[in-house]
Parts: sequence; structure tokens; C-alpha cells
Amino acid sequence: MSMQNPVFIPGPTNMPEVLRKAVDMPTIDHRSPLFGAILHPALAGVKKVLRTESAQVFVFPSTGTGGWETAISNTLSPGDRVLAARNGMFSHRWIDMCQRHGLQVQVVETPWGEGIPAGRFEEILAADKAHEIKAVLATHNETATGVRSDIAAVRRAMDAARHPALLLVDGVSSIGSMEFRMDDWGVDAAVTGSQKGFMLPAGLAIVGLSAKAMAAVETARLPRTFFDVRDMAKGYAGSAYPYTPAVGLLNGLKLSTEMLLAEGLDNVIARHNRIASGVRDAVRAWGMQLCASSPDCWSDTVSAIRTPEGFNATRIVEHAASVYGVAFGTGLGEVAGKVFRIGHLGSLTDVMMLSGLATAEMAMADLGLPVRLGSGVAAAQEVYRSTAVQLATAA
Ligand SMILES: *Cc1c(COP(=O)(O)O)cnc(C)c1O
Repeated sequence: MSMQNPVFIPGPTNMPEVLRKAVDMPTIDHRSPLFGAILHPALAGVKKVLRTESAQVFVFPSTGTGGWETAISNTLSPGDRVLAARNGMFSHRWIDMCQRHGLQVQVVETPWGEGIPAGRFEEILAADKAHEIKAVLATHNETATGVRSDIAAVRRAMDAARHPALLLVDGVSSIGSMEFRMDDWGVDAAVTGSQKGFMLPAGLAIVGLSAKAMAAVETARLPRTFFDVRDMAKGYAGSAYPYTPAVGLLNGLKLSTEMLLAEGLDNVIARHNRIASGVRDAVRAWGMQLCASSPDCWSDTVSAIRTPEGFNATRIVEHAASVYGVAFGTGLGEVAGKVFRIGHLGSLTDVMMLSGLATAEMAMADLGLPVRLGSGVAAAQEVYRSTAVQLATAA
């Protein structure tokens, strides 16, 4: 693997030099005012990225998985019922975590490649007259299949059923890259990590909790210590942590949110959509199909591409890595060997993306797939040059 090449995996993502430097800092006393000057702007920046006025943000030394645990262990009690759809590896893992925590998960099995069935959720919630379901779990962007679910539709389903459950959302591969509106969508817990949209190394779990979720914290009885947000809130009040914070990563998070907000969240979202559109046109030019079943669930951060029947898609990933020094994502779980994934999120430009598409073409041609060199690149170039000219003219 060449360290000179960008990666095209759906996280960890490429790191801008300025963020790498921000993370690499000398030791400071994390109980001195110097730390507060990093912590508070980082938390305030995350709030803006989540588009929330009212939520409280907590950042743990952990990863997105720890964010899942933060969301459930702070708001739920042993034996509580929760509702979730399983439509890929990440929703599956969150369900598994809930089961291991002694929650009763009502799983709506959903074809891998489709989004959360909000209509089915509404029926289930409407039938739950006793309000035994305490939380609805939603994976906003299924990174395994390249499927974006409609969280606003899940919220509408909950409201239509007049159901008071909490809405806990995994936004690990969407927040900071795709539209995410915590307050407008009535999200009670928003979960992410540092190594995807925030373009940092792995090492932080980032969680926003609504006022309703914060009220649930007081009665939740799942065991929690490391991820207890009450301890964290007490720490923050004194510009500190209940333990040793990951200071360099928090310094990176402060700068990362400044960068995203300086670009403008709408521009960040539009950039991801443009780059993704080029990838999707390339896939079409290759004569291939996305795992995502319809345009309304296409993800703008990762594309999972189905390879011809009988061909092991993982070979593309292995070949690109060993011969060209470029990383793509393999298929996970049910779609292992059936898809390969192109990550297109974080610090990425048209020019970087074109190099990734060109490499994917070389790998596929080397392996005998009927892909004409330059076909996908040309399709993406058409998207990028037309939209780039528009953007330059508008500026
Ligand atoms: C990456 C990812 C996770 C897991 O995050 P880690 O930081 O690896 O623990 C969870 N959910 C989704 C949707 C992801 O893409």
C-alpha cells in the first residue's frame, strides 16, 4: 500500500495536513485552562455540525461503536424493548450490542440494499399501545451497502403513531458529510466518530443527546461507568474530563468543525453529492449496479458496487491494494464477495476521486471484467467539469 495515494475506504478517511498537525501537539496539563480553550469550542463546533441548538454533546476517547454504547446505556434499562431494522452490517452490529446489553430488540429484517421501512415502523409503533418500545434505533447511512435511510420519515412514522420512544440514530458515516438535522428530525441521540466526516484519526466517540434523552439518563438502569454522560457533564462544567482526555484529537476536532463550518455545511453536503454523482455515473458506464436498490436511498458517502455473478468482488480490493497501492472497501457480511465499496467522504476532491475511479478500472480490467479503460473516468469527468464550471461561475 502506498502512503502517497488517497484511500477510498468509507472510513477512516483521508486526513488534511492541517488536521494531522492539529492532532500532533505537545502534552498540556488537561486540568489547566489551556484544555478548556480546546474542549468548549470543539463541543460547540460539533453542535453546529449536528444542526442542534438544544442537544448536549459528549465526546469520549473511543470510536463510533462506543458512541452506540453511550446512546443505549445512558437512556435504557435491562429488558427494555427497542425497534430496529437490520439492512446491513452496521445495523446488525448495533442490534447485536443491544442484545448483549439485555435489551429485547424487535428486528425488522430488511433486504440489504434497502433503507429503513418507515411504514412498517409506523405499524409496529401504532400497535404498541402500552408503549413498551422505549427506543427506535436507526442507522442513517448503512456503510456496508451504501444505503441512506430517511430519518425524517422515521420521525414522521413515530409521530403518526403518537409514540413516545426515543429516536437513537447512528450517523457515523453521514454526519459531517451528508444532510443531518438533529433538531428538525427530532433525533434524541446522534452518534458518530472522529475518523469519517471529521477527517481525523479514529479515537473519539461523538454523541449528541436531546433534552428528552437527557431526561431518560436519570431513570436508565443499564450499567455504565466509562460512558456515563453524568460524569462527563460534571467534568465539562469544570472544563475537564472524569479521566484523561484525548487532547490532541479534541484539538483536531475543534479545527475540523471550524473547517466544515468555514466551507459551509450546505457546501460540504453539495460537494459530497457531486463527487458521489460522478462515482455513480462511472458505475453505470461500467455496466454495473449499486447494491442500493433505488435512487432515493443512494448514499453520498459510500457506493457498494455489485460485481457480475460468480466473480469474487474482494479480488478487486486485494488486487488494487497489492498492485496499485490503493485501498477500496470489501463487502461485509451478507454481501461479502458480492460487492466492493468505494468510499467517497471526508477530505476529497474531484481530482482525487478520478484517480480512484481510474485505479478501480485498471484493477477490474486486469481481472478480466468487461470494463473499458477510461469509461467510468470519462463519465465522472463529465459530471465534475460541468458542475465545476457552474461553481466557478457562481463564485
Ligand atoms: C464506521 C461505522 C461504525 C463503527 O464505527 P467505529 O468507529 O469503527 O467503531 C458504526 N456505524 C456506521 C454506520 C459506520 O460507518
